[in-house]
Amino acid sequence: MEFVNSKVFKNAIRKHSVITKKELRFKPNTRHKVCVVCRTSPNYPWRIYASNTDIDNPTLFIKSLWLEHTCSSLVGKVYHMHAPFIAEEYQEFFMSDPNWTREGMQNAINKDFDMSVGYQICYRARMRAKKLAQGSYKDQYNLLESYAHELKKRNPGTSVWIQTELDGEITVHKGQLLSAVGIDGNNGIHPIAWAIVEAKSRESWIWFLEFLKADLDIHHSGHYTFMSDKQKGLEQAIKELFPDAAHRHCLELKQKLWAVARSCTMNTFMEAMEDLKKSSLSGWQWCLDRPAKHWSKSHFDHKFKCDFLLNNHSENFNKSVLPARKKPILACLEEIRLATMVRLANRRNSSPNWKCKVGPRVEK
Ligand SMILES: [Zn+2]
Repeated sequence: MEFVNSKVFKNAIRKHSVITKKELRFKPNTRHKVCVVCRTSPNYPWRIYASNTDIDNPTLFIKSLWLEHTCSSLVGKVYHMHAPFIAEEYQEFFMSDPNWTREGMQNAINKDFDMSVGYQICYRARMRAKKLAQGSYKDQYNLLESYAHELKKRNPGTSVWIQTELDGEITVHKGQLLSAVGIDGNNGIHPIAWAIVEAKSRESWIWFLEFLKADLDIHHSGHYTFMSDKQKGLEQAIKELFPDAAHRHCLELKQKLWAVARSCTMNTFMEAMEDLKKSSLSGWQWCLDRPAKHWSKSHFDHKFKCDFLLNNHSENFNKSVLPARKKPILACLEEIRLATMVRLANRRNSSPNWKCKVGPRVEK
């Protein structure tokens, strides 16, 4: 019998120990020689010895074995039912469900090995399994190129870009998320593009927005309105790439909208509207589309917050991808992509049920 390397051999022994409920222990060993004994049997009659024949070949062969136990099986937990073993054994569960609970894990171990393990061990095993399932941060950076290739192959029309440092080595950093979010026909969030960059700066925004400009085929930016927080470098980047577009900060527009909302007389209302029009054509249009009779102050406070989504769009998007941001890069990008795909698919599925030519939120 042979094993690819000592790690595989040891894992097989651990599993054997757990299944047979025998306290098997490794004697001090190397990559080339592994000896296992049964600690409970007097004078260790049960033993396995494996070694390799060629020092350059990690394959281990079993050289000798005595499989006779003089001990009886343990009732409780054996030593090798520890966190690393459990993590290795159940890491696939975490690939399909990263939120698999500790209770779920305890139940599975109970059922599979007829053993109950404590809260602490499961906690450590869970952390370990999650890490294994997601792969280490560095491994995932190394896989980015093939991930990009796969994305383009599976979703024709997708643009994926990776920029590496000059020497071609990818530096591993947690990074910052840049995103561009549009508004769909029903005033809903429509994620367009996202990127993980080293830092939020004029350079990284330009890098990101240049792709956005090319992909959306924006030659004349006059019809576009950009909404953003006061982000470092973003204002300059938008000015450079979209010189004719309107760019407003959320707060600024919010104030102008409030002015419209607060105005009590027709005159002040018209003035505030004019002022808003100068700031944001789309904001002004949004107000125009809603009959003024519904604009009584009492209604407006409430309606304004929940219905006017413009300024909250990117914020909402960023908030929705927050859990993904904590994961290694590939897992993070995948989670954002999946969530976006589901979001867009749900929209598409629900739109045939619209009773009117416009979306239900617009109709209101
Ligand atoms: Zn034994």
